Amino acid sequence: MCADDCCWGGDYSVAHALEQQIRDEIKASGVMRLDRYMELCLGHYYGSRDPLGQGGDFTTAPEVSQMFGEILGAWVLQSWMEMGAPERFVLLELGPGRGTLMADMLRVAKPLHDAVQVHLLEMSPVLRKKQAEALQGYDPQWHEDLKGVPDGVPMIVVANEFFDALPIRQEVQQGDGWIERTINADNADLEWNIVPSGAEKVREISPVREGFMARLAARMEDTQSVGLVIDYGHARKGFGDTLQAVKGHDYVDPLEHIGEADLTAHVDFEALAKVAAEQGVHVEPLIEQGAFLKALGIEARASYLK
Ligand code: SAH
Repeated sequence: MCADDCCWGGDYSVAHALEQQIRDEIKASGVMRLDRYMELCLGHYYGSRDPLGQGGDFTTAPEVSQMFGEILGAWVLQSWMEMGAPERFVLLELGPGRGTLMADMLRVAKPLHDAVQVHLLEMSPVLRKKQAEALQGYDPQWHEDLKGVPDGVPMIVVANEFFDALPIRQEVQQGDGWIERTINADNADLEWNIVPSGAEKVREISPVREGFMARLAARMEDTQSVGLVIDYGHARKGFGDTLQAVKGHDYVDPLEHIGEADLTAHVDFEALAKVAAEQGVHVEPLIEQGAFLKALGIEARASYLK
């Protein structure tokens, strides 16, 4: 129970309930794996707020400049034409935030308006509402996961800062082996079971991301679809702890502000590319975002907007 002066908002008590759930699960099994912790925290976090922009926790490229979406809209249009301008296709965005990127893309990609069906994979009811407002007139359809996205229709898939929000696991090298990093509740605060010393290697894996990419790629292969994944990450598998918690545009401890901070980790593009290729999808080499946007003409667009 909390004292009167701490129960000042619904979110606070929901966050309490989340912490209790985490503690109960830890009590039942001794420890909690990082991917389960991220899943629970992010479910609450995204489910209860719009985290984007100045007043939120972090900002993304489409929220900074309309040019980002306009350039990606040009890429979508070009991809649609290269696919033979199908009369009907699915434009699927994964984790569309406020719907800004989709709105900016569609605004410049007018020639495909009669053909496009907008589908959004979004778990947050708060953000779904914002997306509905941003995409009035486009009749978007929402999905919790890939299952509901129409099958057998060519797709163009776009994801900006979606994969980095999917849960990861971490392992720490100890001697000849690797030990999973888990979270315990032995003391008053949640704590890591291992805090690696500077000399100890940490490696990250993400069965959730890879599983998602495998399912997506299988559908893309079946329907001759194309996709663009933009994220913070690395081209080659490496070592290191890339888990980040951000709140109010500042880094915080990932085990504090439970469910109230954004949790992300760098995307291992090598691992994603491997699972996509295993499904028969051709994967282009990774390119830095700046180079990609320049190749598509962002500088010309910027001088036009001035
Ligand atoms: N693409 C947007 C938002 C990035 S934030 C932009 O660039 O501004 C991450 C987005 O992914 C949010 O919309 C969040 O609600 C969504 N998201 C995160 N995890 C998800 C999951 N497991 N399933 C569906 N959507 C998810």
